[in-house]
Amino acid sequence: AAREALEAREAEYRLLAENAVDVVVRSGVDGTLEWVSPSAERVLGWRPDELVGRHFAELLHPEDLAAIDADRPATAVGNPAVFLGRYRHKSAGWVWMGVTGGPIVDADGTVVGTVSSARDVTAQVEARRALEASEEMFRRVMAESSIGMAVVALDGTFLAANGALCRMVDRDEAWMLSHTTADVSQPVDATVSRNLISRMRAGADDVEPRVMRLRRSDGADVWVRRTAVLVRHEDGSPKYVVAQIEDLSAERAAQDQLAYQAFHDPLTGLRNRAWVIEMIEEEVRSTEPGHGVGLLFLDLDNMKVVNDSLGHDAGDTVILEMGRRIGRLLNPGTHLGRFGGDEFVVVVPRVGDPRVLERLADRLLVAIAAPIEVDGHRVVPAASIGLVLSRTGATAASLLRDADSALSRAKASGRARWHFFDERMHADAVARLTVEDELRRAVAEHELVVHYQPIVRLSDRRVVGHEALVRWQHPTRGLVPPLDFLPVAEESGLIVDVGHEVLDQVCAMLAARPDLPGPISVNKSPLQIARRGWRSRFVERVAHHGVDPRRLVIEVTETAVLALDDTAREDLEAVRALGIGIHVDDFGTGYSSISLLRDLPVTGLKLDASFTRRLTGGDEPADVLAAGLAGLASGLHLTSVAEGVETEEQSQILAAQGWTHGQGWLFGRPQPEPFLG
Ligand code: C2E
Ligand code: MG
Ligand code: MG
Repeated sequence: AAREALEAREAEYRLLAENAVDVVVRSGVDGTLEWVSPSAERVLGWRPDELVGRHFAELLHPEDLAAIDADRPATAVGNPAVFLGRYRHKSAGWVWMGVTGGPIVDADGTVVGTVSSARDVTAQVEARRALEASEEMFRRVMAESSIGMAVVALDGTFLAANGALCRMVDRDEAWMLSHTTADVSQPVDATVSRNLISRMRAGADDVEPRVMRLRRSDGADVWVRRTAVLVRHEDGSPKYVVAQIEDLSAERAAQDQLAYQAFHDPLTGLRNRAWVIEMIEEEVRSTEPGHGVGLLFLDLDNMKVVNDSLGHDAGDTVILEMGRRIGRLLNPGTHLGRFGGDEFVVVVPRVGDPRVLERLADRLLVAIAAPIEVDGHRVVPAASIGLVLSRTGATAASLLRDADSALSRAKASGRARWHFFDERMHADAVARLTVEDELRRAVAEHELVVHYQPIVRLSDRRVVGHEALVRWQHPTRGLVPPLDFLPVAEESGLIVDVGHEVLDQVCAMLAARPDLPGPISVNKSPLQIARRGWRSRFVERVAHHGVDPRRLVIEVTETAVLALDDTAREDLEAVRALGIGIHVDDFGTGYSSISLLRDLPVTGLKLDASFTRRLTGGDEPADVLAAGLAGLASGLHLTSVAEGVETEEQSQILAAQGWTHGQGWLFGRPQPEPFLG
C-alpha cells in the first residue's frame, strides 16, 4: 500500500513536472542530465531527448560556468541554490535562466542526483543591465560635464554634485554632500531652491529655467541658470531632483559690457548721447512745480584746429581732460554726458533759480580755460555754453534744441562764453528753420545790402580803403547782421549766391565811383574759397563791370588759409597775379603757422579786434604780440590793418607799434555808402 501510495505520488509529481512552464531537470550526481521537461523545447529550442545524457555544463555559457563547480551536482555540495546563468538556445544564442534546485536523497540519505527548475529571466536581466548601463552613463556624464550637475534629495541635501558645480562654488564634493542647496545659494535666492522642491512635490516634473545667484565659499556671487527635473519612484512618488547649473558669469560680464557700451562713451567713459536723452526725459517727468530741469550744452571751441594741427590723439586728450574738469565741478545728482565730438551736456535736476545754472556755467568756463599740455604743446581750451531751463511741456528734444540755439548764440557772440536761451531766441530758432527759404528769396529780391567801413592810414587818418560787409535788409526783422545768416548760407550752399551778390554790388559801386580812393576788401569764407570755379566767376564779374582788379582785396580768414589745398592756392595765386590783394583776416586768433605767410601770395594782414581790445600800452601779452605782429608785417612788406579800433588810445598805441592801418568805430562804422576820400 505504501509503495502504491508512493507511485501515485510520483506520477503526480511527474505530471506536474511534465506540464511545468519552467524547465524542470533531473540530473545525476555528476551533472549529467537524466530527465528534462518538455517545456525545454519552448524555452531553449531543445527537445528533451536531445538533452538527456548531456552534461549541464555543455549548455552553460563559459563565463557563467566559472561560478559553478561543474563536476558536482548543484546545491548539495555547495553550488549556489539559486543561480543565474546563460544557457545555450538551440538556435538563438543565449537565454538567461534563473535556476533553483535541490538534492535528491535516497532512503539511506545518500545524494543520488538533483532536481532543479529553470526559468527564462532574459527580459528581467536585460532590463537590469540597461538600467545599470544608463546609471553608469549618467554617472559619467555628470562627472565629465562642464556644466554643473547635482542630484538633490527632497529635503535639499545634495546626493551628488559634479566637479563643475564644485568648482563653481569653490567647494569639494564631501562638503557638498553634507550640505543643502540653501548653503550654496545667496540668501536672496535660497527661496528659489526651496520653492522648486515644493513645486515638484506638488506634482511639477520640471520647472522653468531660473537665473539665480549661487554663493561661493568666499561669499561672492556666481550668476547661474538652473534647470531641474524631478525623478520619480516606480510608484510615481517623487524620488529626487536632478539639476543642471550653468555658469553665467561670462555671459553676464558680456551683457554688462554691452549695457555699458550702450550708454557710455568709449573715450571718456562718460555717459553717452542715448543715456543723456533718457536722463533728461526722466528728470523732466519727475520735476516738481516751480522747478525745472537745467541743461548746459557745452561745445569746445576750436577743436577742429587742435585736431588738424596736433592730430586726433591730441584732440582726444583734450576732450578727455575737459570731461574730467567738467565732472569735478558737478554736484552729486547732476548728470554729465558726452553728446558727440566735442560736445558735453550737463543735466541739472530741480532748478528753481536760473542763476544757479549761470553760476555753474561761469565756473565751468574758468575750469576749462586752464591751459593743458598735449604732446609738448600748450593748448588753451575754451568752450561755449548754451543754457536752458525747462518749462512745462518741455521734452528732451525741445530742451536740447533750445540749448543748442543758445549755444550757437554764445558762439556767434565771440565764443568762450555762455548764453541763456530765451523766448526770442526760440522765435529766432523757429525762424531759422525757414531762414534758408527766406534767404534764397532775399538773394533773388536783392534784400542783401553791402555796407562799407573805412580803413584809414593811422599816420594821418586818411581813408585809404573800405571793407565791404554784407547785411540783410529784412522786411520785418530790420537789418540782420551777417553772423545771423551766414552760417545758414554756408550750410545750405547759398553762400555762393551771397558772394556773387556782394561782389556785384561792390563792383557796380566801384564802376560808379572811379574816384573812390583805395581798394574795397571783400570777405571770402573758407567754404567759398574751397569751392571749385569761384575764381573764374570772380574774375568774370570784375571784368563784366569793367573794374580794375587792383581796386579789390580779398579777405580770407586764417582758418581758410589753413584749409587751403593746392587748387585753392593756385586760385589765390591767379587772382593775385591780376593785381587783386589778399589779406589774412582775424590774424592771431587761429593756430596757423606763420610760414603760410611765406607760402601764400598774401599782401596784408588784419589784426583781430580781440588784440586791439586788450591793448594797455604797457608790456601785457596783447601789447607784446601786437607789436611783434606789426614787425612781422612790416618785415614782409605787408599792409597791416588793426581791426576794432574804438578809442583814441588804441589808435595811438597801434600806430606806435608800427601798424600802418586801422579800422574801427573810431574812424567810422559800416554804412551804406563808402566815405569820400
Ligand atoms: P570781419 O571780416 O572780421 O569784419 C569785421 C567785423 O568787425 C564786422 O562785423 C564789423 O562791423 C566789426 N567792427 C568793425 N569795427 C568795429 C569796432 O570798432 N568795434 C567792434 N566791436 N566791431 C567792429 P560784421 O559786419 O558783423 O561782420 C562779421 C563777420 O561776418 C566779418 O568779420 C566777416 O567774417 C563776415 N562777413 C561780413 N560780410 C561778409 C561777406 O560778404 N562774405 C563773407 N563770406 N563773410 C562776410
Ligand atoms: Mg573781414
Ligand atoms: Mg576780422
